[in-house]
Amino acid sequence: MSPYSAPLDDISFALRHIAGLGELAELPAWRNAGLDHTEEILAEAGRLASEVVAPINRSGDQAGSVLDGDGSVVTPEGFRQAYQQYATGGWAAISADPEHGGASFPLVVDVAVQEMFTAANLSFSLCPMLSQSAISTISAHGSPEQKHRWLPSLIRGAWTGTMLLTEPQAGSDVGALTSRAEPQADGSYRLWGQKIFITWGEHDMADNIVHCVLARTPHAPPGTRGISLFIVPKHLVEGDGSLGRRNAIRCIGLERKIGIHASPTCVMELDGAVGELVGEECEGMRQMFTMMNKARLLVGLEGLALAERSYQQAAAFAAERRQGRRADTEPGAQSPIILHPDVRRMLLEMRARIEAMRGLILLNAAAADRAAKHLDPVVRQRAQQRSDLLIPVSKAWCTDMGVEMASLGIQIHGGMGYVEETGAAQHWRDSRIAPIYEGTNGIQAIDLVSRKLPLHNGAPLAMLLQEMTGLDSTLDQAAEAVAEAARWLRDHPGDDALAGATPFLQMLGLTVGGWIMARAWLIADRSQAAGADRPEFWKNKRTSSRFYLDQILPAAPALLPAVTSGAAALG
Ligand SMILES: Cc1cc2nc3c(=O)[nH]c(=O)nc-3n(C[C@H](O)[C@H](O)[C@H](O)COP(=O)(O)OP(=O)(O)OC[C@H]3O[C@@H](n4cnc5c(N)ncnc54)[C@H](O)[C@@H]3O)c2cc1C
Repeated sequence: MSPYSAPLDDISFALRHIAGLGELAELPAWRNAGLDHTEEILAEAGRLASEVVAPINRSGDQAGSVLDGDGSVVTPEGFRQAYQQYATGGWAAISADPEHGGASFPLVVDVAVQEMFTAANLSFSLCPMLSQSAISTISAHGSPEQKHRWLPSLIRGAWTGTMLLTEPQAGSDVGALTSRAEPQADGSYRLWGQKIFITWGEHDMADNIVHCVLARTPHAPPGTRGISLFIVPKHLVEGDGSLGRRNAIRCIGLERKIGIHASPTCVMELDGAVGELVGEECEGMRQMFTMMNKARLLVGLEGLALAERSYQQAAAFAAERRQGRRADTEPGAQSPIILHPDVRRMLLEMRARIEAMRGLILLNAAAADRAAKHLDPVVRQRAQQRSDLLIPVSKAWCTDMGVEMASLGIQIHGGMGYVEETGAAQHWRDSRIAPIYEGTNGIQAIDLVSRKLPLHNGAPLAMLLQEMTGLDSTLDQAAEAVAEAARWLRDHPGDDALAGATPFLQMLGLTVGGWIMARAWLIADRSQAAGADRPEFWKNKRTSSRFYLDQILPAAPALLPAVTSGAAALG
């Protein structure tokens, strides 16, 4: 596996020119996130990611996490030490509330930092990513005492967090879960049930694990309306904050999986475990929604991160591997495959799609930031609508693309991509989970078409398309096709619209990517013409953005028949 090198210039470009970090950093809440300071932070995170976290990606895949007879999980060599460095470096929750020890950076900076850890080692990054979900949930819905008890250690990274939703009969259909919680005389609850597929549900990297568990209380109504949220720690915590006895929640099995071998995917058994109710009974689903947006964005980020890692791996291989002879290569020698136009095409396609994905993810995060802290309520409201609209696109379009790009990375390797030796195969295996968890991509498409499009009479999409107009003729055609598709979906609710949901999401993803790349092209073109510093950077940016607009974006309008064929076409 080739080393990972943090793509700092590309991340900075997207933060500055696509996400508008400069403008965000002028808001009183984020004076700490000026461009120069952010770049220093990114460089520091990039060093840890490439020098400490990336080198244990391959060995982690080979060794995997292992369940011991006593129910403890042993992580691969080097993971504990790397996690200690990650936690002491303060990376666990840089956008968390300063009142509980967070650094209070905007989400967009947090996401830019997490891209590097995720690309370096997806399995590793999932542990702090799940902690972030627990932190978001407790921050938004916990009582002052709960925040005081759980947040500081989670934010410091001394403890990690998990989300326990899934049960054998309750996957996409969370409302079917049956784990039960019974109130006790002292105000606490006892929980019983079995949860499956729990990421980092048990491990040896931190002293305690804070599980966020969904369960039903007695007499709760059926379906999602009857679900409550509980905090169930691995070790109970005493009044003075010290760790008490082991709680009755255990890992009873680890899944064997296609990829992310180092990330333990646990079957968890609750056998009368002590838990604390968060908020009121039956508010669990509503509470989940607040953390879901961020979690979906961070999973979308996994697609981008693995595509970047695969690209770096493939580009390094293509520069080394020699096959065939081009006219400009000396007689008797073979040429590096990177000189062959078809290989250059594959590499450029990877780069162009990665840049579009990075723009989308950071744009989406910046919209969430504006929605949270902008001073103008109208800006806040519009930003919230844009963020909500883009979340399913960021999650599903980027994770589908992550798998495709990791596959293209294998293709560039030829046969050496199909064998495990080079490491290209691991990126593909690891990438395959992201379209499945945190709401499958099919569920994201349904969310986009059934919930997000109709909101505010379709205004968020109309405003987005309006902003795109006039930048590029191919983009105009794509935007018109999206508008037509959206009208058709609105006029054909029910199964017809559901049948076209996934092609519509792909169409919108390609088009938003086109908007980002049209903006990138204009900036690169201007910078190159003005003789800006780093001419090679601007030349490459011009090439990749033009390639996207001319060779990738035309696929968007071509999806119109797939969106508008209706349910009858499915037989
Ligand atoms: C490695 C791994 C880690 C995970 N980590 C966690 C975790 O930490 N915590 C946790 O709680 N869960 C976790 N999960 C569970 C994950 O979120 C679920 O697997 C996912 O939500 C899908 O549920 P399911 O597997 O039951 O598939 P199903 O819901 O059975 O879906 C099967 C197929 O049917 C489609 N489908 C289902 N319902 C509909 C519908 N109404 N309309 C259209 N299509 C539909 C789906 O899109 C999918 O293609 C993890 C899973 C894995 C594999």
